[in-house]
Amino acid sequence: MAHTYEFFHVIQGYLDEAAAVVQLPDHVRAILAQPKNEVIVHFPVAMDDGSMRVFKGYRIQHNNLLGPFKGGIRYHETVSLDDLKALAAMMTWKSALMDIPFGGGKGGVKFDPRSHSTDEVMRITRRFTHALGNNIGPSYDIPAPDVGTNSQTMVWMMDTYMNTLSHADKNAQRAVVTGKTLTCGGSEGREKATAQGVLHCITEWARDQRFELEGKTAIIQGFGNVGGHAGVLLAKLGVSIVGVGDHTGYLHSGEGFNVHKLQEHVRRNGSIAGYEHGERIERADFFGLQADLFVPAALENQIGVDEARALKVRLIAEGANGPTHPDAERILAERNVDIIPDVLANSGGVTVSYYEWVQNRNSEKWDLEVVDDKLERRMKRTYGQVRFFAEERRVSPRIAAYCLALERLGRAYAERGIFP
Ligand code: NAD
Repeated sequence: MAHTYEFFHVIQGYLDEAAAVVQLPDHVRAILAQPKNEVIVHFPVAMDDGSMRVFKGYRIQHNNLLGPFKGGIRYHETVSLDDLKALAAMMTWKSALMDIPFGGGKGGVKFDPRSHSTDEVMRITRRFTHALGNNIGPSYDIPAPDVGTNSQTMVWMMDTYMNTLSHADKNAQRAVVTGKTLTCGGSEGREKATAQGVLHCITEWARDQRFELEGKTAIIQGFGNVGGHAGVLLAKLGVSIVGVGDHTGYLHSGEGFNVHKLQEHVRRNGSIAGYEHGERIERADFFGLQADLFVPAALENQIGVDEARALKVRLIAEGANGPTHPDAERILAERNVDIIPDVLANSGGVTVSYYEWVQNRNSEKWDLEVVDDKLERRMKRTYGQVRFFAEERRVSPRIAAYCLALERLGRAYAERGIFP
């Protein structure tokens, strides 16, 4: 793992590089270099044993030029202001790149949800939502799941938010969060959406490279929402998952894992620990496994210089946000390892969140086929745009994706001007 990694600084480096390519006006670059609002709240929560603990929560609202702030809520012991600023900015680029009428935001609470009971996590979620108050709202700022949160967390947020409103207003406010359960206003296809989007990128890449996916192998780091679904979807295409890892350790299977069983094990036990198949390996050995594809789907800064030298894959499809250190990216480029960058690869999540929001606002319920079809067309169209830009302007796919997002944002700023 790379030692020095300042996530927000790294994202600003990409912004500067892309801004120079598209000749973004300096004042627009300056606006986009910082979030619009940084909301920090402290709130007390009663623990199961009767004691009281004060938690620190954040909601970073990066930009809302193209639509309401939009982005996930992270529960993790490492949550920090700077990392959330980076993640919020990335949401602005993703929405703009995918041509979705949303801006970018990100939030979180600094704590380890695994060390709390379900009741405690529920109370933390409800008090956090209450503390955020009118800083979120279906036309203003719309949270979604991220690391450590899921559809249940979103339903608690929705319920808490709705209960602060008058009876007549309640139901119109369901769209305050996305990624909800199907019963409580979620969309078909949202749970797997991020992984599904990663898969569309991988199949487009394989088509371009004339690379037959069937019979090939992949390794996946992180086996939660994104990693688990990516494993299942890759297996459907005949790709065998030969290595997996999460916060508890790493496993290798030469013949490939039964990913459905592994996903079920993780759902029941919260991690891959104790899974009966495969052999336990060290983290460093995981990165050196012989495989064709790598889907990082855990946290940022996982592929440093050592990992970049060790990886034997042909493609890295970034399910996680910010998994690759810029120094590592240079080494991977020299070694001809392709990267499908995060802002493109994992934007299926925000895309189907948008579909969920539209359904809620119109009191509609779309079939899975409708959602899947819309997502596929949008992912493939955007993949093509990024590839074309990268080839034409001779920049990396990451910078191409940033450039396309910045061009849209730059146009909107030019048309609207700066108030007053
Ligand atoms: P999750 O909480 O469902 O899963 C996270 C996984 O990462 C778990 O398997 C966990 O064990 C593993 N992990 C945590 N710390 C680790 C460590 N130090 N080393 C190895 N593994 C570790 O979260 P998720 O929603 O699947 O998100 C994963 C990544 O995808 C994050 O970078 C997130 O920002 C990104 N992402 C998620 C979505 C979404 O819709 N959920 C959308 C876009 C991007």
